[in-house]
Amino acid sequence: MTESSGPTAPSTVADGDATPDVLVVGGGIGGLSAAYALAREGLRVRVLEQAPEFGEVGAGLQVAPNCTRILHEYGLLEEVKSLGVLPSAMLMRDAVDGSELTRLDLRDLEERYGFPYLVIHRSDLHAVLLRACRELGVDLRTHQRVTGYDTADDRASVTLADGRVEDAELVIAADGLHSVARQWMAGDDLVNSAYVAYRGAIPLADVTREVNLDEVSVHVGPRCHFVQYGLRGGEMLNQVAVFESPKALAGEEDWGTPDELDQAFDDTCEDVRAGIPLMWRDRSWRMFDRDPIDRWVRGRVVLLGDAAHPPLQYLAQGAVMAIEDGWVLARHVTRQRRSTTDTVDWDAAVRAFEAVRTQHCRRVVLTARSWGELWHLDGTARLRRNVVLRDRAIDDYSFVDWLYGPTALVPEELPPMFQPIPLDAVEAERDQPTLTDA
Ligand SMILES: Cc1cc2nc3c(=O)[nH]c(=O)nc-3n(C[C@H](O)[C@H](O)[C@H](O)COP(=O)(O)OP(=O)(O)OC[C@H]3O[C@@H](n4cnc5c(N)ncnc54)[C@H](O)[C@@H]3O)c2cc1C
Repeated sequence: MTESSGPTAPSTVADGDATPDVLVVGGGIGGLSAAYALAREGLRVRVLEQAPEFGEVGAGLQVAPNCTRILHEYGLLEEVKSLGVLPSAMLMRDAVDGSELTRLDLRDLEERYGFPYLVIHRSDLHAVLLRACRELGVDLRTHQRVTGYDTADDRASVTLADGRVEDAELVIAADGLHSVARQWMAGDDLVNSAYVAYRGAIPLADVTREVNLDEVSVHVGPRCHFVQYGLRGGEMLNQVAVFESPKALAGEEDWGTPDELDQAFDDTCEDVRAGIPLMWRDRSWRMFDRDPIDRWVRGRVVLLGDAAHPPLQYLAQGAVMAIEDGWVLARHVTRQRRSTTDTVDWDAAVRAFEAVRTQHCRRVVLTARSWGELWHLDGTARLRRNVVLRDRAIDDYSFVDWLYGPTALVPEELPPMFQPIPLDAVEAERDQPTLTDA
């Protein structure tokens, strides 16, 4: 159960010039939303971002109801909706033959979960959060590269690249996939999936074939998939092409190259192949995640967002989880506020945050890996998967209820997980050729 249901005003406006209560390292979607959530509680928050400017990649982002629920509470949902697109359906198709496998009716989904599923340009969502932080007096600083962390005596400090040290009662490390704080705290390695993503968000005027911007379309195929949806009221088309890199599997340094992109989609249906030349070719994103860990807190430093739980993006929950993190942390800060002294029991707050979020995000990271395996199947397994997906009743939400319902504040509120259908139990319909059969 969540504690509040409607948009609420901030309790006080923080003063950006004073020593902060909280330092947030990283001004991505995770860092900014956490800063905003805590500033709404009247805390003085400073964000340290390494880049010369705050910003995001100019590509699309899917935002599920477990996040739009929070944006509504923050009073930001209407603006986000006005900048994004609310598609009517999400369709999954087979990338080889183009046939429909299953769909989510996003209007019905909104009714079920109470909040919409929307898609938005990343920089638009980032800009909404940045402005919201500014309005609450969050102290937003660029050119601040954090190189080290320390914690002692109920405080934590960061060292910056220029040698300066800053400290606060709490440091939130929202420094992304390659987090310095994660290295300091856990010292674990990234896990390389050998998959790479190409993106392309382009004006609709540059698209010569017909596309349906009223849907989020996902084509799943052997060792590849392809996502498409509209952005900015349908003015733009967002595409994501993801594939397994043979060069990565062969241990080559230079992997995920554009020639591999073309080859990976050679045997897909025409709708997918038509999209590949529209991808950006000068940039790509190698797909790494990390094995889940149970400790995100060291003294007064806490990990958040991709620094804590970078997923493979197949459930479209990475930024969503980051926004949930900030909301959950802020709720626990409120619960642990001592009314007599107006101080926060930070240790209790971060322990409570860690207790629930490590469990939820573990589920997401591990399920995202399995999701990817399911999407990328080949041969008989692909045909079996297609049978299972085609058999799914349109109103069966059992596989997303655990994700899209209200964000849990304590482990006891975590919903039950869905039970996957074992593919071995399904008889494959061998009526279509597969890439390995061909
Ligand atoms: C292809 C693709 C598609 C995706 N699609 C979706 C989707 O549809 N929905 C969804 O919810 N998620 C999606 N994700 C995942 C999502 O993008 C990430 O999970 C999310 O952006 C993480 O946000 P973050 O703020 O934690 O990290 P980041 O966005 O990585 O931000 C980290 C920030 O910290 C700064 N920083 C880093 N190191 C330092 C330092 N040492 N000092 C100071 N600053 C530092 C960086 O400059 C950056 O601004 C997708 C990811 C990919 C790759």
